Amino acid sequence: MAVPSPRPILRAEILAIGTELTVGETTDTNSGELARSLVAHGVTVVRVEDLPDDLEVVVGALREALTRADLVVTTGGLGPTPDDLTREAVAELCGEAVAVDPPTLAWLEGLWARRGQPFPSVNVKQAWRIPSAEMLANPNGTAPGWWVDRPDGSVIVTLPGPPREMRPMWDDEVLPRLAARGVGADSDVRTLRLTGVGESVVAEQLGEALLRATNPIVATYARQEAVDVRISARAADGRGASELADEAEAAVTAILGQYVWARGSTTWAGALEAALGERGWTLATTERGTDGALVQLLRSLPAVVLAERRGGASDDAPGEGESFEAGQAARVREAAGADVGLAIRALPGGEDTTVHVGIVTPDGTHTERRFAFLRGSLGADRAAIAGASALLALLRGRAGG
Ligand code: ATP
Repeated sequence: MAVPSPRPILRAEILAIGTELTVGETTDTNSGELARSLVAHGVTVVRVEDLPDDLEVVVGALREALTRADLVVTTGGLGPTPDDLTREAVAELCGEAVAVDPPTLAWLEGLWARRGQPFPSVNVKQAWRIPSAEMLANPNGTAPGWWVDRPDGSVIVTLPGPPREMRPMWDDEVLPRLAARGVGADSDVRTLRLTGVGESVVAEQLGEALLRATNPIVATYARQEAVDVRISARAADGRGASELADEAEAAVTAILGQYVWARGSTTWAGALEAALGERGWTLATTERGTDGALVQLLRSLPAVVLAERRGGASDDAPGEGESFEAGQAARVREAAGADVGLAIRALPGGEDTTVHVGIVTPDGTHTERRFAFLRGSLGADRAAIAGASALLALLRGRAGG
């Protein structure tokens, strides 16, 4: 057999195998988890596919995936029954014959012996190995995986389907082997979280040159609580990944810095918790017209001592306006004995939502009016974010108006 050539693992594909996935009985969560992990380690995931338990289909998918990717990871199909055919598919693709791996068989037999039961012959196939495969131990089940080095330097990894078996094998067996192949050694992935700006404006302002570059890769993601700009860099041309990522981040910040409210996976609750925590302040909130969206958004915040949700926007119309919200903030702050009171009111205006914000802190009173895109529950969610954003800006000393 040819000695595998060292080839950097830059691109990966994930194949989730199991008819239960393609008929919609089981939701494929493995692929997303693996993709996130690979991306965090600087590997580009070029494709994710769910496949039925069909030998021909799986062999074809593996063959195609290997034309595009340096690494193909499969999950599922490692059980003992005839419809579990991932091993057969990889063996066929590699043109190698399976044979029982004696140490694995001994380990499997031991599992049954421990329970005082006879070893079922169907399980023998879980001890199969092809010559180019290394066994990946599965301490939580009976299905070991394979690490297969291909002659062209590409790699196939097979993992079992059950997430609680798959996850520890990925962390303990696969990631260390990938690290030994240089994966993650010099990559840097970071996320900037933006608010108050839509994804299309973000994309337009960043421009094609930045968004189409292949290293660092700069990508935008519209999420419920932010537009995320993710920067992932790999060392290249003698320059380190963090240096390249720093450069891209500086470019992004120069254009959109005013909208950045957090980094990484920070949530609104997390960002406010940190900003309040710096001053040792607690927060009480009250909201109208948002159906509790602000309470929802901040529900994990321990510093919220009182959060109340009032009726619709029109329940006490006389006090409309930001100064009314300032009064509400003062009231809720006092009632709760909190350091900060935050009041928001969402008012539908045309297709969108106007948000009145009142904030009272030990330093004074702040009011502002914000605009939230759309109305109804989408507008309410955005109104809550507008309120959180106004408070965060104030705590950080850069309030809007
Ligand atoms: P085992 O021998 O432990 O059954 P296996 O590799 O044969 O392992 P499958 O039979 O394909 O795994 O799937 C077993 C179970 O794992 C499924 O019933 C399902 O609950 C879960 N599972 C399989 N694939 C996925 C997936 N892609 N995402 C989430 N769960 C999955």
